[in-house]
Amino acid sequence: MPIVLNMTTGLTIWCSEAITLATVLLLAWRHDRQSPAYLMWALGFSVSAIGFAMVAARGIIPDIWSIQIGNAIALLGESAWIAGFRWMDRRRLEWSALLPPAIWLVGVSLPWVSDNFVNRVILYDLASAVGATLLAFAVHPGEGRREPARGQLGVVFMALACFCFLSGVSMSLLRPTMEEALIYRGYAALGYALIIIVAIVLNGKLLMERSERRWRAISITDTLTGVLNRRGLQENYEILVSDKQRQPQMLAALLFDLDHFKSINDRHGHQTGDIVLTEFARIARQFVPRNGAFGRMGGEEFVAFVPIDDQAQAEALAETIRADFCRVPLLAGPSLVSATVSVGLAMMPRDTVSWDRLVSSADRALYAAKRAGRNCTIVFNETETAKAADTPPETDGGELVPTIEDQIHALRRLGKLAGM
Ligand code: GH3
Ligand code: MG
Ligand code: MG
Repeated sequence: MPIVLNMTTGLTIWCSEAITLATVLLLAWRHDRQSPAYLMWALGFSVSAIGFAMVAARGIIPDIWSIQIGNAIALLGESAWIAGFRWMDRRRLEWSALLPPAIWLVGVSLPWVSDNFVNRVILYDLASAVGATLLAFAVHPGEGRREPARGQLGVVFMALACFCFLSGVSMSLLRPTMEEALIYRGYAALGYALIIIVAIVLNGKLLMERSERRWRAISITDTLTGVLNRRGLQENYEILVSDKQRQPQMLAALLFDLDHFKSINDRHGHQTGDIVLTEFARIARQFVPRNGAFGRMGGEEFVAFVPIDDQAQAEALAETIRADFCRVPLLAGPSLVSATVSVGLAMMPRDTVSWDRLVSSADRALYAAKRAGRNCTIVFNETETAKAADTPPETDGGELVPTIEDQIHALRRLGKLAGM
């Protein structure tokens, strides 16, 4: 006798699978309470299992509980999975996640649907296809969401949507008898469960890729200021110099060192010093262009690597950051702190640049800026940068960049002269 899978068997298989998965996800959530997505997915599987158990209990419980409410609860499971994916990405929940149970409840309120088993199955399949499509959208890659498994998971959810849709369409074309439809339903539930298993495996892959990406981001981020740390700077520098042909051809290093920072710490306390460092990082990073890199070298020293067309461009950037930082006193906790920064600027063509040469030249320029009285920018041009690597560190050559204040002053004087 051929083995015939009927609807109750198919639903029972799905229920036990869903309960197992809900338990595993609950355990995962207990282990990592920072991830509420696990809880939402566990809820989704529990709700799905309860809903399908109610559908399978047809004849044992009242029809309204088995048909109208049971199927709505089963579809609510898909809503919870969608919400789980949005929580995973820390995105707001959307009402559209409730579409699958809503479609069901609206459709089943029509007598020609509620009174006919085949029509109910078609309606359920269409609602489920909408849910699977929303799942595919929920895992879609986006800003800060670039894991390769997202694409694969999206394809599987779209396959699930097609499976549900085709199942509904074939039912409407074949118009099976009640007995045939029950058997057919058993296989459909099994197919649904198999596709969900593939999705769960891929979801595991996605979670692994995601945590790997997070750890990597943590390993290259400075914990106090949130900008790149030294390792992150080195990695970004390598990327910047890897394509020698890329324009612009010059690479500038802007080395920043906060002035008299020790006395800021001594006068206002270490915590206030930390706030000043964080404020400097916040101010500076907003001026560094996207094709550059900015980070903390250590202590109160920061660096920006920026591809530039000419020296003036790098000088303007250094001066903008310097001037913005000292413009107004910073509100650091209870204290108002006046802080300034000195900048050492060096540049080299990308095809001959080396980290050691560029950074040590910027360091020498910075040393010269400190000797020139601090709160200023000293630039080592290409020739000086090449020379600096072979000269002792005491050198204080370089060119003092006219400050923005000097330039405004000069312009005002010119204006006055012109008006005379
Ligand atoms: P200069 O103008 O010559 O650069 O003087 P300075 O006082 O800034 O330089 P110095 O190298 O003498 O002092 C740097 C100080 O930075 C000493 C150290 O305690 C402080 N510092 C380094 N890292 C941190 C940090 O993470 N937080 C705080 N609050 N202070 C730090
Ligand atoms: Mg220093
Ligand atoms: Mg300093």
